[in-house]
Amino acid sequence: MNKTDQKKDAKKPNESTALSPAINKELGHISVLKFGGTSVKNLARIQHVAEIVRDRLEANKKQNNSGTPTKLLVVVSAMGDTTDYLLKLGSQCARNPDRRELDSLLSTGEQISITLLAMTLKELGIKSRSFTAAQIGIFTEKVHSKARIVDINSENLAKALKENDVLVVAGFQGITADGDITTLGRGGSDTTACALAAATSAQICDIYTDVDGIFTADPNVVPEARLLKRVSYGEVIEMARLGAQVLHPRAVELARQYKVLMRVRNTFKPDHEGTVIDGGEDMEIYRSISGVAVDKDQACVTIMDVPDKPGIAGSIMQSLADNHIVIDMIMQAFHPTAGHNNITFTVHSNDLAATIKILEEIKGDLDASSVIADEDIAKVSLIGAGLAGQSGIAATVFKAFGAAGINIKMIATSEMKLTCVVSGKDADKAGKIMHSSFGED
Ligand code: ASP
Ligand code: MG
Repeated sequence: MNKTDQKKDAKKPNESTALSPAINKELGHISVLKFGGTSVKNLARIQHVAEIVRDRLEANKKQNNSGTPTKLLVVVSAMGDTTDYLLKLGSQCARNPDRRELDSLLSTGEQISITLLAMTLKELGIKSRSFTAAQIGIFTEKVHSKARIVDINSENLAKALKENDVLVVAGFQGITADGDITTLGRGGSDTTACALAAATSAQICDIYTDVDGIFTADPNVVPEARLLKRVSYGEVIEMARLGAQVLHPRAVELARQYKVLMRVRNTFKPDHEGTVIDGGEDMEIYRSISGVAVDKDQACVTIMDVPDKPGIAGSIMQSLADNHIVIDMIMQAFHPTAGHNNITFTVHSNDLAATIKILEEIKGDLDASSVIADEDIAKVSLIGAGLAGQSGIAATVFKAFGAAGINIKMIATSEMKLTCVVSGKDADKAGKIMHSSFGED
């Protein structure tokens, strides 16, 4: 990390506190529209997206007939599965591809879609231009494959907005202070969109995707799942973190910090109202539970018989943190052998092998007896802003699981969620039962 980056990082510790002051005062009415990979999968779909953009620009102009300038910032992902394809190419050249090169490679996916959309918009007579992150100045920290945004060049953005009606900006990518291309992590275009909306104080950030909005559960698993008309930032962040494939959680964190009004909409049903995401004021008045998330990509790890003395849990967690392994649901259970404990936690399945390796390495120093893993698990979570203080909810869930013969392996609760770890084979059934026990059906 060079000096400039270090300074930037010191001053700007994270994405959500990192943007320049909003610039839209002189720029008028700005909306951000983000289109995901399926929405720009082929040229016919790009044409369709261009028509949505044109109609929106016209509608917004009509609404502001006061002569206020009306602009759109359109953020796009790579076409279809392009990012997966590029990743595969990279992994065919090197077993462990250089991170810097990989980020440059992945960023080309979005460079294709922005240019094609900008060309199509011009054909429709719209004053539009495409921009990569480097061209606008979307600066990130110097970390490859999951960089956080530290600043956006507001002068560049203002100039580009003055000269065009529609800016088409590449999602998912950034640039470091010394000119290296970075990416924000898979699904990161949502974060680009919210950052641009925050930087321009946009009226709204519309995330266009291939479903109608955010549901109370995955409709593929729970057919009774209902579309939510409105949901709070906090609830969506919990849903995303607990495995619901909704939005990039960092995008919603940014939106919460800057009070960006978000909406999830279906590209293929442009008139459908979708789901609004906002601060959720007054929401608990009408709803205490917002949904159910099922995450099957989880594993559980236990380190057995560690001495019951200060500092042990700290050194275990530090070794994992040093290796960027994110763990969840930490439990330390009382052990019948006096003076010893078992410590259990969950990790993403992708991190299981690395986690076991690290624990095996430190096992001797810790004086632990063994490390055991359970790959056959799933997390099933109930999410809701009104969960806190409703003691009957846990009872209802546990009883329903019991009646269905579902064994609960671990339990964790917080203000906004109740998570049960169950066997992988019970995951979908548990999700359905959780959903129906609260009348979400
Ligand atoms: N194209 C990137 C991905 O597939 C970013 C995105 O779609 O948001 O992860
Ligand atoms: Mg994608």
